[in-house]
Amino acid sequence: MSAHSDRLARITRAALEAGLDAILVAPSPDLFYLTGYAPMPMERLTLLVVRPEDDPVLIVPMLERPLALTSPIGASMQIIGWTDMQDPGAMAAAMLPGQGAFGVGDSMWASHLLELQAALPGVSFSSASSVLSELRATKDTAELAALSRAARAADETFRQICRTRFEGRREEQIAADIADMLIENGHDRAAFTIVASGPNSASPHHEPGPRTIRAKDVVVMDFGGQLGGYYSDTTRTVVVGAAPEGFGEVYALVEAAQEAGCRAAAPGVPAQDVDRAARNIIEPGGYGEAFFHRTGHGIGLEVHEPPYIVEGNEEPLRVGTTFSIEPGIYLEGRFGVRIEDIVLVTEEGADRLNRSTRDLQIVD
Ligand code: ZN
Ligand code: ZN
Ligand code: ZN
Repeated sequence: MSAHSDRLARITRAALEAGLDAILVAPSPDLFYLTGYAPMPMERLTLLVVRPEDDPVLIVPMLERPLALTSPIGASMQIIGWTDMQDPGAMAAAMLPGQGAFGVGDSMWASHLLELQAALPGVSFSSASSVLSELRATKDTAELAALSRAARAADETFRQICRTRFEGRREEQIAADIADMLIENGHDRAAFTIVASGPNSASPHHEPGPRTIRAKDVVVMDFGGQLGGYYSDTTRTVVVGAAPEGFGEVYALVEAAQEAGCRAAAPGVPAQDVDRAARNIIEPGGYGEAFFHRTGHGIGLEVHEPPYIVEGNEEPLRVGTTFSIEPGIYLEGRFGVRIEDIVLVTEEGADRLNRSTRDLQIVD
């Protein structure tokens, strides 16, 4: 059985267990995960229909049917085309039970959902995101291989960028170098390259700009790319020449918090406990207010996906789940520090997929 047929069988069982009469999935990472088909989301309706009692079907615009047929699932699934002269909402509705509970993937356009709701007044629609994300959270061997390769390519990029010159160059130049290196090291494309220098480093999602990097700057670099569909995402904080006043204490806290988060992660542990472990280092250190984002996020076909490592998420971590551990401290007007690795939950605990040194790097 192919990986996609197996995933479709599992989502069909999950629909039954969740008491859903159908799960509807629009073009999205969910659709790609289940079928290997990745059409561009658009106004024309593409819809995967999963029903506990029937085989799944894929409804596609007629002009994309050849594309769907050549996708990994093309030969093994019924693919129904509709023409621009037909009403796809009515067509989908005719194939579905007129009543019951339907789950809908998160990425369906509101216009399509509204159309389906109007065509199926007897049906109650709800989010299928927990059903879908639960499947996607546990990575199989091929997925883990792609995630590990991506992480290694990101680590190599960090090693290389540290050997280049920072002082006198602009953030956007360093960011462009990182993007090139991500691809040279094996990614299919660079996805994001945050380079935040000096006071900009206190802005967690700073957009690299024309600021020229100076001696004694702190530089936060948070970058990732996509490899075989799967993402890398890592962050390191370096200093140019020497660290500014008060930096050492903050860096040590973030490093210890990141380590504590990694140590806390293990199968069965609620996701929020990893967040607490990191926060329990930074809060007593006096910087609780300056750590104002969650500790991490799941990663796979999306850079950010469940599970979210945040207070209130009591879901137990499971073997095969990959997520980031990325505590930070941000001091407005001065500097920020963040350290981020992707980890994999194993039987014993958590393994880092990123292996870059976390010892402070002093760059030129
Ligand atoms: Zn982020
Ligand atoms: Zn990141
Ligand atoms: Zn991240």
